[in-house]
Amino acid sequence: MFNVESLVRKHILTLQPYSSARDEYTGKEGIFLDANENPYGSVLEHEKYNRYPDPYQRKVKEKLAEIKTCNPNQIFLGNGSDEPIDLLFRAFCEPHHDNVILMPPTYGMYEVSANLNQVFTKKIKLTADFQIDIDGVLKAIDNRTKLIFICSPNNPSANSLKKVHIRLLLSNFGGLVIIDEAYIDFAKDRSWIEELSDFPNLVVLQTFSKAWGLAALRLGMTFASPEIIEFLNKIKPPYNINEVTQELAIQALDNIKRKNDMVEAILQEREKLAVELSKIPCILKVYPSNANFILVKTSSAKQIYDYLIDNKIIVRDRSKVALCDDSLRITVGTQEENESLISALAKYKS
Ligand SMILES: *Cc1c(COP(=O)(O)O)cnc(C)c1O
Repeated sequence: MFNVESLVRKHILTLQPYSSARDEYTGKEGIFLDANENPYGSVLEHEKYNRYPDPYQRKVKEKLAEIKTCNPNQIFLGNGSDEPIDLLFRAFCEPHHDNVILMPPTYGMYEVSANLNQVFTKKIKLTADFQIDIDGVLKAIDNRTKLIFICSPNNPSANSLKKVHIRLLLSNFGGLVIIDEAYIDFAKDRSWIEELSDFPNLVVLQTFSKAWGLAALRLGMTFASPEIIEFLNKIKPPYNINEVTQELAIQALDNIKRKNDMVEAILQEREKLAVELSKIPCILKVYPSNANFILVKTSSAKQIYDYLIDNKIIVRDRSKVALCDDSLRITVGTQEENESLISALAKYKS
């Protein structure tokens, strides 16, 4: 039987967390002389920023829980996805001792966070068609393996990873399986959030940075069992999501239609862009995409990247990462932006 308490680092179990003024008194009425705030208001015209924000973002989570059909106590909000990624390492991985499994080519932040926390990484490359090398991963698991990071749809390859493989890992691995769904809105896949009640070792990451168009707010969502969420709450900085972000997140969640409309437009542009890219001679392969970007194999990534820069078009050169020789990652832009890209590429001469 899976037991979070046996997985978490021992000192986290007994750690006395910081207790904020807003933890100790949660009432709304009264004269608040407990948090050393400025009683007159703020230097800004809007006076409401003089009070510390809700440390647990209850209003945001209530709305989010409705949209995602889960319970508020299954949600942790972080300063971007970077924060929960870091907190998972800090809660579950003993430095110089434990290890995690990563599957390149994938999002770079998992490895940076592992290195920062001095946790070993075991890298099991995806297969040539960017799927999980399931035998390789199962063989790599040892009794010090605490986390497996899976990104689906995967960055930079843009494809979704097979559910059977993920389910196999969830059922056979005693540590946490973290599924990063940053691009889920652009895929037809159902979210793994639906399966939280079946898998106590499942952690799902989503973000406001992509489909919601709120990268500047730095707001990442984590969905997991209440027990896992409780440990993240225990070790997070007390007021990790500021008041402005909480207010804007509530507005955003009330405006889900706008998100869906933008996703629809991006999907239409993605399909057009894929067709147009495949007609360009220096593009040798257009990989199928379930995300808001397309990975392409080119005749010479560096030269084409530089040529596009000269034309004031910036794409991501991924040619140095595993399985991505001579590959560029292109974000789907607006119709005009995509037309500029295609017309520049059509004029490219090697
Ligand atoms: C963009 C992206 C994120 C989002 O990170 P934030 O810190 O929430 O902006 C997370 N995971 C992957 C794979 C991404 O590509």
